[in-house]
Amino acid sequence: MTATADTELLVEDMGAGILRLSEPVLQESERSFFYLIRGDQRSCLIDGGWGLGAGLPGRWLPGLIALATHSHFDHIGHLYQAATRLGHKAEAAIFADPQPEATQAAPWLYGRPVLMDGAAIDPITPGQRPCPLTGELDDGAIVDLGGRRLAVLHTPGHSPGSISLYDDSTQSLFCGDVLLPGHIFDDIPGADPALVRLSHRRLASLPFRQSFGGHGPVMDRDTALTRMARYADARSG
Ligand SMILES: [Zn+2]
Ligand SMILES: [Zn+2]
Repeated sequence: MTATADTELLVEDMGAGILRLSEPVLQESERSFFYLIRGDQRSCLIDGGWGLGAGLPGRWLPGLIALATHSHFDHIGHLYQAATRLGHKAEAAIFADPQPEATQAAPWLYGRPVLMDGAAIDPITPGQRPCPLTGELDDGAIVDLGGRRLAVLHTPGHSPGSISLYDDSTQSLFCGDVLLPGHIFDDIPGADPALVRLSHRRLASLPFRQSFGGHGPVMDRDTALTRMARYADARSG
């Protein structure tokens, strides 16, 4: 894995045509991960970070398709830069008008020292540029990048319109915040622990080898399955 700083983005090459992106101005525990996936014919961006700094390099933008796993403030920031933006209709109104209460920026961000220098940021600042969907993705849709196809799964529970994307050519799963190595937020507005469990069951049925989430390290299959079992235990009985 190699890492380079590019227009204030940390860009990590994960192999298999997958670049992992994050914003190093944020403290590590606050960062979200978003991904640039290269196909033979075009590239897609999965999620868009907080939206801090200069944004995506201009050379990535021609033909870029942005896929939004969900509409929380820490994942939609740079989406506006892509001319094509696809996500689930259940959150279409939030992408179009990302008010801080709807994106969970408020009250979560108020006064929190999230930047590397210990400063807080105004919750209005990050991720609040409108990024209205130009098309909707529902369960079963396929996004064809040429030489690799991403299958869309509707995986609600963390938010009503959460989607996951599965690339079977590399057995890579991109699951936003519904499956994370660390805490899975399931008690925020729009979340539902029972739906998280159902979504986990669907994801577990895929033959993925690695899961790339919105936060925390990449998980191999065994680690991800163990994480799902631990979640189910914690939420049962
Ligand atoms: Zn989220
Ligand atoms: Zn998140």
